[in-house]
Amino acid sequence: MSDKKKVDRCAFCGRTSNEVEMLLQGGGSSICVDCAIRVSEYVHSIFGDDIFADAASGSALHEAGKAPSCEALEVTPKQITAFLDQYVIGQGDAKKSLAVAVYNHYKRINEAFARKAADASSKGRGKSEADKVLDAEKSALESLELEKSNILLVGPTGTGKTLLARTIARMLNVPFAIVDATVLTEAGYVGEDVESILSRLLQAADYDVARAERGIVFIDEIDKIARKSDNPSITRDVSGEGVQQAMLKLLEGSIVNVPPAGGRKHPEQKMIPVNTTNILFICGGAFEGIEKKIAQRLNTRVVGYGAQEKKSHIDRDNLLRYIAPQDLRAYGLIPEIVGRLPIVTYLNPLDRDALRRILTEPKNALVRQYVHLFELDGVKLTIEPAVLDMIVDTALKYKLGARGLRSICEAIMMDPMYDLPGSGRKTFRITADYARERIERFAGTLQ
Ligand code: ADP
Repeated sequence: MSDKKKVDRCAFCGRTSNEVEMLLQGGGSSICVDCAIRVSEYVHSIFGDDIFADAASGSALHEAGKAPSCEALEVTPKQITAFLDQYVIGQGDAKKSLAVAVYNHYKRINEAFARKAADASSKGRGKSEADKVLDAEKSALESLELEKSNILLVGPTGTGKTLLARTIARMLNVPFAIVDATVLTEAGYVGEDVESILSRLLQAADYDVARAERGIVFIDEIDKIARKSDNPSITRDVSGEGVQQAMLKLLEGSIVNVPPAGGRKHPEQKMIPVNTTNILFICGGAFEGIEKKIAQRLNTRVVGYGAQEKKSHIDRDNLLRYIAPQDLRAYGLIPEIVGRLPIVTYLNPLDRDALRRILTEPKNALVRQYVHLFELDGVKLTIEPAVLDMIVDTALKYKLGARGLRSICEAIMMDPMYDLPGSGRKTFRITADYARERIERFAGTLQ
């Protein structure tokens, strides 16, 4: 009985035959095809091509079969930003950097998979001298391996950082996970191990490891694990530098043993090996106060001949747009992490116009959602434009940002959402007077 159990599960990741594509059995034990590939890759990385000869071609081809479809490459960076425009208002610079980074990322992966497939298919064939020369030229080119570029989005909370990352993932149809850096701690302390970041991604990929391995992870609040002190050696900084160090191995690309259920690792738990080389990490943070570091750098750099003139070109109201890796280091990110986040871009605070547009323009804009909700009950909902202005004014007055728009709308819509179903009414108009009363009541709860 217990023997049978053993055979039905992968000895490496613990998944059953129902959960994997194929379970290979031998010697009273089993291994799933995903783990088998990982093991063979690991052996290959140590012993090189010769150890496998023909045998390796099978696994490489299998991987090639699982390569991300070329879909990611069929869209250009411009098409990516056009897609983002449907869901995210403004943030043009961030969209552009993100589009280029994502485009290059998937181009890099596709190239790597294509190369693997070509290698695999050429293996086992007798090679002519000409082929050998070609191979030598190819391997010279391969030394120009494209490095992965993770991304850092810096900007105030609620300006669309998570939304951008989520929208990109949706567009590419890849698994997507959001994690909050503040819950992570160094191994051995209370909190979650950094590996739990990948547990979320595995869950999002329904434990399809190959899919997870080309997914996107959004790590929020990365600024909160910045080193608290400029002097790294004073005391151990549990929530800061240690976590950054632990996170490094994820960002730079390595095989990480992941506890399937997340949380804290424990010795008896089966681990799933996950290769992070092709996982795109998008980090986000508000980096409150970083403007000071940017200003300091700009002030010290702009000295000497022509300094006055250069200084006058600096947009003092939006210093974030000048953010550079040095500022992140000055803020407390360790240089290795900064090095692994080569693409740094910024988001603007949302002004009145942006908030107003957010209410109605995105494909899934709040107003559209309410109209649709009422439609399902056979009610045609209309909202006076003045109501939308009042909603925006309230969000601005109480500094609620884009996230606050929803609670204000809920406060206005609660009564009609309660009363209208089953009432037989076919239309409903939200007037300024109707909304004012409810907004005032809502504002009363904020004070
Ligand atoms: P953060 O920058 O803190 O990650 P989010 O992306 O989570 O912010 O934004 C919170 C919510 O506010 C989003 O779900 C979305 O509804 C709305 N929002 C924020 N910024 C934008 C934007 N630029 N365009 C459209 N909606 C936005």
